[in-house]
Amino acid sequence: MFFKKKYTIKNIPKYIIGNRSKIPIINQKMLESINFDNAASTPILQPVLEYIQDYLPWYSSVHRGTGFKSQLSTELYDFCHEQVLNFFQGDFKKDIVIFTKNTTEAINKLSYRLSLQEDDIVLTSIMEHHSNDLPWRKKCHVEYMQLNKQGTLDLNHIENLIKKYGKKIKLITFTGASNVTGLINPIYEIAQLAHAHGIPIMVDGAQLAPHRNINMLPHDDPRHIDYLALSAHKMYAPLGGGGLIGPKKTFKRGDPEYSGGGTIKSVTLQNIYWADPPDKEEAGSPNTIGAIALKKSMDILKEIGINSIAHHEFELTHYLISKLKKYPEIILYENIDSLSIDTKVGVVPFNIKGLNHALVAAILSYEYGISVRNGCFCAHPYIHHLLKLSPQQIYMQQKQILQSNYYHVVGMIRISFGMYNQIEEIKHFLTAIEEIIQYSK
Ligand code: PLP
Repeated sequence: MFFKKKYTIKNIPKYIIGNRSKIPIINQKMLESINFDNAASTPILQPVLEYIQDYLPWYSSVHRGTGFKSQLSTELYDFCHEQVLNFFQGDFKKDIVIFTKNTTEAINKLSYRLSLQEDDIVLTSIMEHHSNDLPWRKKCHVEYMQLNKQGTLDLNHIENLIKKYGKKIKLITFTGASNVTGLINPIYEIAQLAHAHGIPIMVDGAQLAPHRNINMLPHDDPRHIDYLALSAHKMYAPLGGGGLIGPKKTFKRGDPEYSGGGTIKSVTLQNIYWADPPDKEEAGSPNTIGAIALKKSMDILKEIGINSIAHHEFELTHYLISKLKKYPEIILYENIDSLSIDTKVGVVPFNIKGLNHALVAAILSYEYGISVRNGCFCAHPYIHHLLKLSPQQIYMQQKQILQSNYYHVVGMIRISFGMYNQIEEIKHFLTAIEEIIQYSK
């Protein structure tokens, strides 16, 4: 074995478990190991689980029945649309929520709905999750916004792209916060710049929505967010729920991507009259369970207060980074001097010099009971950028991946906090890191 001293999940100090403020995390036992992988998925909250359990015997298709179950499901499902819009302060007259499986489906849906032509341009960035890059590549020409010294989107570069391509640009789409570095983009400044040129914006809210307030703002505010995509499983509700929020008028146009039950007002053998959105965009019997779970988790997040969550998570992040930067063996990938609660959520990528990220992640998990993620985090171009790989190195890396089954030749280890994580857990993690460094010498 690589290590002399063996930690098991049982050896993790118990105070870690007993000391979790008032956050109603389900099943403390499940968290006897330390979960620092919240950017991937957050654990379900106890009240969300109970809400789902109460509803489960009553699920039914919506908008199609007069029976009690159908009426109940319809009422709840419609209410969830309203409440999700309410959470982001969308405009009740102009915006709608379309429930999707997740952020990926939401972005793909928008890429379809905008009816882009091959020579239309969408601006996305080099710091995106693949889900906010690949769907656009399939539909039109994509230009990549570059990053400034702080590592967030460079407004000057965006302005230059707008000057260069003008009206050909149909959308500026970018992540609210990076799933690799946690860096938060200046959403409202970008919105202002885009709107001054009549270009709508889409924010990938997957990583930002659970950690910071997102206010879509009124439509006549130049900082307004036109489209927002999100995933329930990153907001303390289960997999399978998510949403796309945007102006109703966008979704009134054209045929839906998927059609069938629920999408129409009337059909004859000759004609189809589509229903109003969101129904038109939610083909088939919808995931009412996913919708009510997301609504309930939003209720709890509001109750706890997104600002308190932000402060707590930023304290953890600051503590972790201030400790990690003292080890000469640790490589951090950001400009750590400019960190603030407004510029970073609790995501910290790192490497240990001379050790493969996959090995470190495995040791953290099997020897110390600490769950992290490693690899390229569905953001290959961003990882190449952060690792400063040359085109030749990127080529070699791709060749290696394609020629073998070894998926992540290069990569990083990622710590990502949820609202329930504790400083004591970071201390345990730092002990682990120190030992890994010591024993690897
Ligand atoms: N966008 C960002 C920034 C993400 O972090 C993720 C997932 O990690 C996604 C999109 C995709 O989310 P999902 O897999 O829920 O569709």
